[in-house]
Amino acid sequence: MIEMKYMKKGKIYEGKVLRVEFPNKGIVMVDDEKAVVKNSIPGQKICFAVNKIRKGKAEGRLIEVLEKSPLETRDKACRVFGECGGCNYHTLSYEQQLELKREQVKGLIDRVCEDYIFEGIIGSPIEWRYRNKMEFAFGDEYKDGPLSLGLHKRGSFHDILTTDDCAIVDIDYNIILSCVLDYFSGKGVDYYHKLTHKGYLRHLVIRKAVRTGEILINLVTTSEYYNRDKSHESELLNGLTSLLIELKIQGSIVGILHSYNDSKADVVQSGRIELLYGRDHIYEELLGLRFKISAYSFFQTNSLGAEVLYTKAREYVGDTKDMNVFDLYSGTGTIAQLLAPVAGKVTGVELVEEAVDAARENASLNNITNCEFVVGDVLKVLDELQDKPDIIILDPPRDGVHPKALNKIIDYGVDRIVYISCKPTSLMRDLEILQERGYKVEKACAVDMFPQTVHVECLVLMSKVDK
Ligand code: SAH
Repeated sequence: MIEMKYMKKGKIYEGKVLRVEFPNKGIVMVDDEKAVVKNSIPGQKICFAVNKIRKGKAEGRLIEVLEKSPLETRDKACRVFGECGGCNYHTLSYEQQLELKREQVKGLIDRVCEDYIFEGIIGSPIEWRYRNKMEFAFGDEYKDGPLSLGLHKRGSFHDILTTDDCAIVDIDYNIILSCVLDYFSGKGVDYYHKLTHKGYLRHLVIRKAVRTGEILINLVTTSEYYNRDKSHESELLNGLTSLLIELKIQGSIVGILHSYNDSKADVVQSGRIELLYGRDHIYEELLGLRFKISAYSFFQTNSLGAEVLYTKAREYVGDTKDMNVFDLYSGTGTIAQLLAPVAGKVTGVELVEEAVDAARENASLNNITNCEFVVGDVLKVLDELQDKPDIIILDPPRDGVHPKALNKIIDYGVDRIVYISCKPTSLMRDLEILQERGYKVEKACAVDMFPQTVHVECLVLMSKVDK
């Protein structure tokens, strides 16, 4: 076992942050011993407490920033920055954020790949107010405090900060959030308590399309009120709906939904859904195509950034004339439809049925006839598909591709695979397997879909070398 000579668990130390590894791990050296302190910025002098010592490495918790970093050249852009779990990098210029993420992604890929072209990082076309969706939670900022609505306090499971001046969402979100919070506070309605499983209010999900300005609001609650007194619940929700549709905002609210969620898991998920007003979807436009987005379908959260990402993906995919393309983890079918006009046929595979329905509808809306969308787990669906692909695009969720599914994908032996990843660390694991089994990374780049936060998207083009 490697002993730490100097750092001890429970003790407090000071040090300078040398660098930040993906996603938020600040590396601090105290003498010649290393500690990882999350949510710090390179160049900061910090004070931290050692929580844990594992394999000769200390893990510390940030207590205080003693000196700010020379890289921090601007002020925070909202009241709760620093406490909120959403953003980390308001105080860095956008160029500096890009440089940081570029280094992180390159560092990670360099660990597993040699001899490839790293094309750097492409920034988001807008740095602020870029999100087309936000999930806010109801709670309180401290135990037994007044009702709050917003994002989790950094590192906290319980505490919710009211984020009514959030700078990465459009102003309309903040106006809607304040309206909903004031309304329920005034009526004394309680939030759902995760420990006791009692209470009513759970989440407020807002979607606003950048190109059309359409807004969809989804209020998620338990069925507590419904079970107790249905007419009281309808009255409560009708009151809120009237207020919301009267709001003076820039976009237009085209739909208000009410979803019930009694599950114990702290995620927004679809249970029974009721339409309180308008319709249950919005339309967004990307690269000249129109997309219908419903409440629970995945859609890239930065629309203008998605255009950059998909344009780059299209470039990596290259020539697809008359080819069979597989778009695995296809969501609402955005990538499939962007490639369809220049391909023979595109097959999309996606787990969420609602997203597949939307993908099919979107394709017909866009007059695309050579796309097929299949509902199901990639792992299973690959066994059932008759078509054989000439090229494969992978855009899995954060955990990456299931190892067994990855083997099936590799077994097709296609010449080119384009891998889009929202979590570079999962990508690394999958790249190792792909390389062991005959693929080589040709090119890679990062695309910053999430300015101000620690997240970054990566894009990799692989080709088959062992034929
Ligand atoms: N390519 C799409 C969506 C990418 S997000 C776009 O750019 O918009 C990843 C998608 O994978 C989500 O829509 C999620 O519902 C889906 N998914 C997650 N696990 C899956 C699985 N095992 N099989 C198929 N789809 C899955």
